Amino acid sequence: MYPTLIRTPGLARFTAHVDDERQAQLAKFGDQHHPDGTGAKYYVGMADQAREDTENAAESVNGPRWSLILLEEVYQALAEADPARLRAELVQVAAVCAAWARDIDSRPHPMVCAHCGEQIETSEIRNTWSGPLKVPGVPECASPRYHIDRPECRAASGRACDEQKAAHQARTAVRTPDPAVRAGQDDAS
Ligand SMILES: [Zn+2]
Repeated sequence: MYPTLIRTPGLARFTAHVDDERQAQLAKFGDQHHPDGTGAKYYVGMADQAREDTENAAESVNGPRWSLILLEEVYQALAEADPARLRAELVQVAAVCAAWARDIDSRPHPMVCAHCGEQIETSEIRNTWSGPLKVPGVPECASPRYHIDRPECRAASGRACDEQKAAHQARTAVRTPDPAVRAGQDDAS
C-alpha cells in the first residue's frame, strides 16, 4: 500500500479506482505523450463563460450544479498554456471529480424496489429490503434493493444475488484449457 496518509474521507477509495483506470489505460495505450493543445483564446472565453454560469447557478433557487462546477474547472485548465499552472488546474479538475464521486457515494438510497418499482418502507427495528452485495465502484444509492416481504420481489432479489455470484465466479475462476477440467469447474459453480 502507498505510504501516503490520505486525510479526505472516501478519497482512498476514489484513488484506488483511478489507479485501476490508469492501469487499464496503460495496458491499452501505453505511456502517452501528446502536445497540450491548451491556452487558445476561445478556451479563455469559455472559462469566463463557465465561471459566470457557475456563479449564476449558485445564486439561483436550484443552487450550484456539479456539471457546471466541473465544466468551469475543465475550461480553466484548457485556458492555461503555462505547464506549471496547467498542472495545478488538472489537480483541481481531479479534486472536483473526487468531491462529486464522494457526493454520489454518500447519497441515501431512494428505497424504490428494483422489481416492482414501488416504495420500500423503512424501519429501525426490522429489515425491509434485500438485495445483492454492493459492488465496488457502484454507489449505495444505485445498488438494487427489493421488498423483503413480497414473494415476487424477494424472488427477484434471489435471482440478482445468483447473477452477481455467477459473474463474480466467472471473473475470478482460473480457466484451464483442458475441456474435461473446465466442464468440472462449470458443474461446481
Ligand atoms: Zn417490490
